[in-house]
Amino acid sequence: MITIKQLVRPNILDLEPYSSARDEFTGNAGIFLDANENPFGQNNRYPDPQQKELKQKLAELKGVNTENIMIGNGSDEIIDLAFRIFCEPGVDKAITFTPTYGMYKVSAAINAIKMLELALSPEFQIDLKQLENYFNDSSIKLMFICSPNNPTGNRINPKDIEQILNKFNGIVIVDEAYIDFANSNSLLALIYKYNNLIVSQTFSKAWGLAAARVGVAYSCKEIIQLYQKVKPPYNVSSLNQKAALIALKNEANYKEKLKQIIDEKKRVYNELEQMTQVKKVYPSEANFILFQVENAPQIYHDLVKQNIIIRNRSNQIENCLRVTIGTPKENNTFIKALKKHCEKSFIYR
Ligand code: PMP
Repeated sequence: MITIKQLVRPNILDLEPYSSARDEFTGNAGIFLDANENPFGQNNRYPDPQQKELKQKLAELKGVNTENIMIGNGSDEIIDLAFRIFCEPGVDKAITFTPTYGMYKVSAAINAIKMLELALSPEFQIDLKQLENYFNDSSIKLMFICSPNNPTGNRINPKDIEQILNKFNGIVIVDEAYIDFANSNSLLALIYKYNNLIVSQTFSKAWGLAAARVGVAYSCKEIIQLYQKVKPPYNVSSLNQKAALIALKNEANYKEKLKQIIDEKKRVYNELEQMTQVKKVYPSEANFILFQVENAPQIYHDLVKQNIIIRNRSNQIENCLRVTIGTPKENNTFIKALKKHCEKSFIYR
């Protein structure tokens, strides 16, 4: 079994991290003349670089220890930092399973890391047989598994993920940005079984805080310490930490909105299934639905003209569109416009 130390870039292992004023003195009371801040104003002080209060609340909610939590500036920062910690630019590689979230590849490119893109099966699952060939390549340091996957909406079989965790001598990042909407549990508890697992979650989706940019990585203590070492000291602003704390305090609101989105998803799904021009609607465990039509670009542009913006995913999956679940009123407008488009094109056939 490979150790985490063996996977980390040597310069990161040797790194003497920046020690901020708020790291060196952690009390709340006193006259603070240590951080070159402006003494006047409401947002004049640097945020807690360790995000202690937020971690404490998350630890209680998720049943993990605070030492297993890292807060990122959105989960996009968690993805980027993984490259910086584990991948030597121009040398190391990573794997994604396509179609999937585009930032893994972009982040890899920014960090000069070659991304190997392995196609998901027609059921959008990982082809373990194909993957076997890559387990012994020691230059592959990271594997990104998006579950529920964006843009397909399905979960990746958890048993397959465990097989990968057992066999892969690198770090597996399970991106659970959409896990709150899923029918089954997160893989979070597995961080205590596999030290090569990072589970990434976010406040941007079910918690309704995309504007605040708060992502969360859960992993073994050793990996979290590496993240803490590499992240910019004040990566999550006080305003954003506070927004996340307020959302956590109002869990009833989170649950109510979550239910509403899931109910609406079922409704939109059923509507799409009934439209003759919709060839296929993919089951979704996320807050969006992927569906296949006959001419995706045409429908996309027709909807844009009516100020209804969905995502054209045809470049990833033939003639596929992805619609995010909105408010009931927004969903009605979308359904009505799509039905009208279908009727129109039916007449012209
Ligand atoms: N992971 C996935 C799968 C996503 O779809 C997104 C955003 N669309 C993110 C991560 C980024 O989330 P955040 O807002 O936390 O950076």
